[in-house]
Amino acid sequence: MPNYQEFHRRSIEDRDGFWAEQARRIEWQTPPQRICNYDQPPFARWFEGGTTNLCHNAIDRHLKDRADQPALIAVSTETDSERTYSYAQLHSQVQCMAAALLDLGVRKGDRVLVYMPMIAEASFAMLACARIGAIHSVVFGGFASVSLASRIEDASPTVIVSADAGSRGGKVVPYKHLLDEAIALSSHKPQAVLMVDRQLAPMALTAGRDHTWASLQQKHQNAVVPCEWVDATHPSYTLYTSGTTGKPKGVQRDTGGYAVALAASMETIFCGKPGETYFCTSDIGWVVGHSYIIYGPLLAGMATILYEGLPIRPDGGIWWSLVEKYQVTVMFSAPTAIRVLKKQDPALLTRYDLSSLRTLFLAGEPLDEPTATWISQGLGKAIIDNYWQTESGWPILTIANGVEKAASKFGSPGVAMYGYDAKLLDESTGQELLGADQKGVLTIEGPLPPGCMQTVWKDDARFVKTYWESIPGKLVYNTFDWATRDKDGYYFILGRTDDVINVAGHRLGTREIEECIAGHPNISEVAVVGVADNLKGQVAMAFAIVKDTSGLVDDASRFALEGEVMKLVDQSIGAIGRPARVRFVTLLPKTRSGKLLRRAIQAVCEGRDPGDLTTMEDPSALQQIKDMV
Ligand code: AMP
Repeated sequence: MPNYQEFHRRSIEDRDGFWAEQARRIEWQTPPQRICNYDQPPFARWFEGGTTNLCHNAIDRHLKDRADQPALIAVSTETDSERTYSYAQLHSQVQCMAAALLDLGVRKGDRVLVYMPMIAEASFAMLACARIGAIHSVVFGGFASVSLASRIEDASPTVIVSADAGSRGGKVVPYKHLLDEAIALSSHKPQAVLMVDRQLAPMALTAGRDHTWASLQQKHQNAVVPCEWVDATHPSYTLYTSGTTGKPKGVQRDTGGYAVALAASMETIFCGKPGETYFCTSDIGWVVGHSYIIYGPLLAGMATILYEGLPIRPDGGIWWSLVEKYQVTVMFSAPTAIRVLKKQDPALLTRYDLSSLRTLFLAGEPLDEPTATWISQGLGKAIIDNYWQTESGWPILTIANGVEKAASKFGSPGVAMYGYDAKLLDESTGQELLGADQKGVLTIEGPLPPGCMQTVWKDDARFVKTYWESIPGKLVYNTFDWATRDKDGYYFILGRTDDVINVAGHRLGTREIEECIAGHPNISEVAVVGVADNLKGQVAMAFAIVKDTSGLVDDASRFALEGEVMKLVDQSIGAIGRPARVRFVTLLPKTRSGKLLRRAIQAVCEGRDPGDLTTMEDPSALQQIKDMV
């Protein structure tokens, strides 16, 4: 077994040699001619000249060895259904979906927007896109019409694939009217809409535009659709994520680099073996779902569980019962989910035979020590924290036990992964902080390794400006996270440097929520901040100035307006953006130049010292908030 430090050093110092070896993990139609073209920083072009296909590597290449082995296990505790697709069956479903998309006019390079619940057809759609060289853009099913519309506008999809409804906690969540509203709001109109009818909710079909999956499935039942060989640098997908500005960014990912990075991570980080079962509890609407529900496990020849439902329904033992039933060896979840389970009967952790399970990986938000200890002791299994972002596509910081066994340290996701030349910089001077335990901004020296974002969809300038030009005097990738590093090279993440908040592992821009609330006819101004929460990590808290206060005479009227604002957020962004509270104030704390002092508001809400307030225009604004909370 090589030494991890040496492995990492080589990935940086002999970058091309290292990644040329990793590239052998996948099948190429034409092998890459150049490993990394970094002639135009910060744009990295990995495996240039190579042609491959993500769907071929995820499905077709396994057919000779494991056609009858389970590939996809779709479990829904919402509709009480469980269905296993072998690699051969998945192959045929994906070809059928690919034929349907081609039939609806999708061609290589076209975008297909996927707005779906966690059902097998969602994965067919993603893999079918990869198969024909179309670019999928999955939008989390919990987003409502305004969020969806902005993504439709930006991605300009040829086709949208959706379903009549999702379901959450036994409650049907209809999608079709939200989709129709979003299409109406967007100036881009898709050529066609492909609807999966789960028969959960009625849906009105628009003649000439909307088609049902059942009818196209019938038509293309035994379709044979060969994989379209694409350049390694051909975009495989875009995935929208929040940043400092209100407009979400389309993170664009390539094909070859992504396949190589995921295939490598499956062995070196997750230690998953072909034929075993991987269970990632995320959602396909997030990057973790893309990488470790769909592509990673399938690239590795594993079976993957796609789970629709809550972690506590029918009871808090549901996930562990699936581990037992499907002999799961590797599991991946988020700290929030574990904190939810922690409120349940601890006996549920020992009710099932979990002997197959080796490791539980957790990511998406800071993992607090009590949660880590509780689950690790309760299961008697190793817990591995890992830190990454939508932008990176695979872990930036963790432990690579598949390279060299190493101990985790509580509170730290781990060390820099191979390929990532991580550095802590002083935010204002750009100077590198080399000493132990110094706090700086976590940055990555270019080129970003394979699998990371190529650019912002249709906006190279924004990619450069947002991510690479934020530190004075340096072209370096900014994660926008504060961190320290101890003497052993373990990093500790201290929170975002920007206006992004993390609610239950979901990344939200406070500006997005503010823009939405400001759309209420009776709100003139609003500040949204993230406040620490025991269960969700953070929750959004809104402070709004009301235009006409004459109706706000008592608690009941304030409560009614708060309800209206929350409903507005639910309808435009989705419930995940809904503030825990909306408080009404007459003034917001700002600097003399008019900048909102969100960090001061946040500090006051969390009972901390708001720090230096000499630039604040009117201190009574903060006092008002202090009195309220
Ligand atoms: P997303 O792009 O939605 O995956 O969110 C990425 C952000 O989530 C990071 O920039 C961090 O702020 C946070 N994050 C993700 N994983 C971790 C982790 N293991 N520990 C602490 N923060 C994390």
